[in-house]
Amino acid sequence: LLELPLFTRDDAPALDHLAPSRCLLWCFSRHSLLCQDGQPAALAVEERHLRDGHTLVVGRWGDKVLLAREDDDAAAPGAQWLVIRDLLQQLSGPSSQAVLTARAGLHWLRGSAFCSYCGAAMRAPLTDWSRECEDSQCGRRHFPRLDPAMIVLVTHQDQALLGRAPSWPEGRFSTLAGFVEPGETLEQAVIREVREEAGVALAGVRYQYSQAWPFPSSLMLGFRAEAAAADIVRGEELAEVAWYSRKQLRQALAEGELSLPPGGAISRQLIDDWLQGSPAPA
Ligand SMILES: [Zn+2]
Repeated sequence: LLELPLFTRDDAPALDHLAPSRCLLWCFSRHSLLCQDGQPAALAVEERHLRDGHTLVVGRWGDKVLLAREDDDAAAPGAQWLVIRDLLQQLSGPSSQAVLTARAGLHWLRGSAFCSYCGAAMRAPLTDWSRECEDSQCGRRHFPRLDPAMIVLVTHQDQALLGRAPSWPEGRFSTLAGFVEPGETLEQAVIREVREEAGVALAGVRYQYSQAWPFPSSLMLGFRAEAAAADIVRGEELAEVAWYSRKQLRQALAEGELSLPPGGAISRQLIDDWLQGSPAPA
């Protein structure tokens, strides 16, 4: 049987052609989402939601149209605000994709009211996300900004390089990460960040997979890299950085001395892959 996908942006209808009864609404407050029983709370849509310019058409959700708004005051019986990063690990694929799409789209909706070239107002978003400057002299078309960021698990023989940012609690470690800078390739960004944060030179870099990370507008690109040597010179961005063998890491996790990012985060996936024996790049 061919089943229609639960969530799709194909053929997403325009807001002004919708009736409230055809829609359901998810409400966001910064990086949190209003949830019931661990799932996004599906709220009823009111006529005003379709008219005030603060509602995003996320896509089709089953036989309904999924809308999203930022609304700090939203409430529903038994509902609570859950942090999206923590929620991701317990959502199904379609739910997770819809939550990330809505979070990214709302950031774009809020940040694209005015043209960044001339300051004129911009037309309401089309279904392809773009917005157009209303000034006839300017008329620029704007697209949502995506900030590429790279995250990398560096290995050397049987060890992996993990770091702790100064703002994280004691014992919380993760892979190294950073934003890609103008003029850089992804590989150059990986090499530069690892050198800056840990003073480690790389012998090989290989792309693994990516993750939408709309907090507020990143695309996280995951890499594996092999170090040329194990010497560490810690940079200013990290409070701690160290090599862990698989055995040391498993032991530190079992004894509660060390914690890792939650499941669902690309950093955790890179570490879990390595723990399960995935090979280093040549
Ligand atoms: Zn303009």
